[in-house]
Amino acid sequence: MISEEGKVFLVGAGPGDPNLATLRTREIILKCDVLVYDHLANPEFRKWASPECEQIDVGKSPGRHTVAQDEIGKILVSKASDKLIVVRLKGGDPFVFGRCAEEMSVLDDAGIDYEIIPGVTAALACAAYAGIPLSHRDYGSSISFLTGHEDVTKESLRVDFAKFADVGGTLCIYMGMSKIEEIVTSLLQGGMPQDKPAAIVSNGTLPTQRHLRCNLGDIVQMSQSSDLKAPAIIFVGNAVGLSFRKSWFEDRPLFGRRIAITRSTSQNSSMKSKLEELGAEVLELPLIEILPTEDRTLVAEAFTGIATYEWVIFTSANGAREFMRLFFLAYGDIRSFGPMRIACVGEATAAIFRAYSLEVELIPKVSTAENLAQELVATDSLDSANILVITGNRNREVLVSMLETVGHAIVDVLPLYDTDFCDISKAEDLEDFRNKGADAIIFTSSSTALSYIEQEEDLTFEKTAQKPVFFSFGPETSKTLKENNLSVAAESDQPSMDSMIKALISRFSK
Ligand code: SAH
Repeated sequence: MISEEGKVFLVGAGPGDPNLATLRTREIILKCDVLVYDHLANPEFRKWASPECEQIDVGKSPGRHTVAQDEIGKILVSKASDKLIVVRLKGGDPFVFGRCAEEMSVLDDAGIDYEIIPGVTAALACAAYAGIPLSHRDYGSSISFLTGHEDVTKESLRVDFAKFADVGGTLCIYMGMSKIEEIVTSLLQGGMPQDKPAAIVSNGTLPTQRHLRCNLGDIVQMSQSSDLKAPAIIFVGNAVGLSFRKSWFEDRPLFGRRIAITRSTSQNSSMKSKLEELGAEVLELPLIEILPTEDRTLVAEAFTGIATYEWVIFTSANGAREFMRLFFLAYGDIRSFGPMRIACVGEATAAIFRAYSLEVELIPKVSTAENLAQELVATDSLDSANILVITGNRNREVLVSMLETVGHAIVDVLPLYDTDFCDISKAEDLEDFRNKGADAIIFTSSSTALSYIEQEEDLTFEKTAQKPVFFSFGPETSKTLKENNLSVAAESDQPSMDSMIKALISRFSK
């Protein structure tokens, strides 16, 4: 981003779920030059940054300690002095136990401009995502944020929990897990009853969220037996005890499932968001990429003679999209489309034409090239008819040869895109996939399966990783997987996302 002066944005990223970031946070990450982040920030945020953005990890990682606070200050000052736009991403809200004030002082001293963007703090988010009310008009009227951190070196800064026994309302305790026994003992000594409602929410708002509800007297033992780990918030208070029929977040049908998707990045986003809405954690492993490759002479010939075709046949949504783009470049007006009949391999492809109110006359009951050819032959309209087939570079010959040999049609083929294998080692989620594995990997086409098989070396898992089962979009893809000795856990009834989702839910929902 071009700027006169450098500037630092002290940004609250929220508790984990990237959907809880503010519009302002997203806007600034999209255009920053430097992104300084730590382990509390969801890796999704890093994907928002531009490829040119320098990303600096100041968090703990195996074998390395956290970058010290004064070191972070130096990084912010030096980058902003180079006239760069710097984002310092912080978990939750920058002012809630986030050491934001220290960074403000450093920037002040260096005369550097800054802006602070608030974020959804963990206590509010954990309560909402676990369905724990923080206030209720019948149960107390205050909410306190406390820290149980053992590293607060100054005695005077330590929270005297016994005093909070009497405060009433709801207590939200950050960083309290390693001191939970002491904290609970203090609250009880201060006079809080054993049966005071309490709860713990760990990894709030993430696909790994877990929560526990109990009484204060039982919380230490129950947190140990249920093995709840930091980061977590401990809640104590009467409103916390209100219980509701279901947990809206954790009871979603694919909650906590890790699902890898393999389509090209440009096709993946709606699949990703649908799966995420159902609670899944989605890993993007693009195994193919779709590149337009029109041969100008072929395109010009096909469009010049377009009125002579009886049928135009589309074997994929990519081909349909590309065809319409070229059509409008050539003619600019839908009325030039002509009277030819349209056949599409499936609903997703047909939807592209319906958007222009063009009728799709034929979609086979089962979305394969063979079925498309058979149903076209069954229309008895192919004999000596001119037919245009829009394909990619990997489309099988079977469709064209059946139309020619069984239907006796005169077929022109117009390839409009290439499906290439992507280099998987460049996928941002690859490391996560190899380290932790996944519950399932979805193959949308034979080409994604072939690309996977070709790159299996790069896709080997760590010992402790969960080995995924393979889901396939249709019979052709399953065949490719089986031919390569990979077993198919389930195949969707139709090659559509909705059908795939049904298959996933029936396999995974508890
Ligand atoms: N500024 C942050 C808090 C930083 S202190 C905020 O406003 O949320 C770090 C503590 O926050 C953790 O020890 C934990 O108590 C809490 N926390 C952060 N993210 C959390 C999450 N996703 N789930 C539960 N607790 C979380």
